[in-house]
Amino acid sequence: MKCHITKKRIAGLLGILLIVAFTACKRQPIKVVSTNTAMGTVIQYTVYATDGEIAENVVEELQKELQSLETQRLSWRIEDSQVAIMNAQAGKTEGVLLSKELYGYLEDILEVSRESKGALDITLGKITAMWNLDSWSGKDEKAREEFVLPDEDALQSVLGETGYERVLLKDGRIYLPKGMNLDLGAVGKGIACDRIRAYLENQQEITGAVISVGGSIVTYGKKPDGSFWKVAIMHPREEGAYLGTLTLQGEWNVATSGDYERYVEMNGKRYHHILDPSTGYPVDNELCSVTILSKDGLLSDALSTACFVLGAEEGKKLVEVFGAEALFVTKKQEVIMTEGMKDIFEESK
Ligand code: AMP
Ligand code: MG
Repeated sequence: MKCHITKKRIAGLLGILLIVAFTACKRQPIKVVSTNTAMGTVIQYTVYATDGEIAENVVEELQKELQSLETQRLSWRIEDSQVAIMNAQAGKTEGVLLSKELYGYLEDILEVSRESKGALDITLGKITAMWNLDSWSGKDEKAREEFVLPDEDALQSVLGETGYERVLLKDGRIYLPKGMNLDLGAVGKGIACDRIRAYLENQQEITGAVISVGGSIVTYGKKPDGSFWKVAIMHPREEGAYLGTLTLQGEWNVATSGDYERYVEMNGKRYHHILDPSTGYPVDNELCSVTILSKDGLLSDALSTACFVLGAEEGKKLVEVFGAEALFVTKKQEVIMTEGMKDIFEESK
């Protein structure tokens, strides 16, 4: 009997010890790193969680979320996405009823369009299609060989059908004039980052994450050792090299727009994917890349495109309106920063 009690006690003690050991293990976050593709770009996940299996499930769920964001909502190329439906219904007097989510995004986008005096203009859908921007990437030899300039007269006539100020949002509906097509390419990756953060906020087991969706990056929570997030900015002219890093703590969004992301070259001239809405042609100013830092994914992405169009001087004024920070790289490889950016950016040696 005595012996039995002792055994029970030992078993009980062992149980307690095991629970303590297990809890200690559980408390040490596990890092899961994974790469995939969605929304026409590469997605890199680094997720810290109290449980490895949960972290892997979260990455899988996020991947599904990004795919559905593209196919069901944002892509103008996929026939029954909400954006494709809006485009197909352009000119209808009854407009199109939108989800609350998409309506909210469009309100925010149009605010950046107004503040940037149309530098960001999502109504360029037919123009971006004429340039065939989607088929370009830095290494796409075929696109380079097959590239022809759009017909000037056709371009100018389609340009006449654009203009963000002609988009009407009212009582949950959108009204597009006949002939207008939306392209949300300038903000889609930022919206994806916002969706990612909203998802992570509901996952108690996730302690930290840094996830990049093409040129848009979202940071969340903390690293297990308490050190800050390091977000690298691509060098716009040295392939595979970094211009420098941003040191960040907690929740942030970083978005970069550059003329090196999608482009073709013809007769020594670079035609890239960021268009000047006033001409319909790729922007040709002093810049080759812009990086924006803010607390909001959509805003960062919208501002990166708008600032690229505006140039450094006007771009600085624009980010101030939205409380964001910016880093501009000129074609002469000069780096121009807002004050707040100077504190967190470190140039690569
Ligand atoms: P980003 O890389 O975020 O600057 O977005 C560029 C993408 O947005 C292009 O591939 C086009 O689909 C679209 N786009 C190009 N120029 C503009 C512009 N000025 N305003 C809004 N969208 C644009
Ligand atoms: Mg953008």
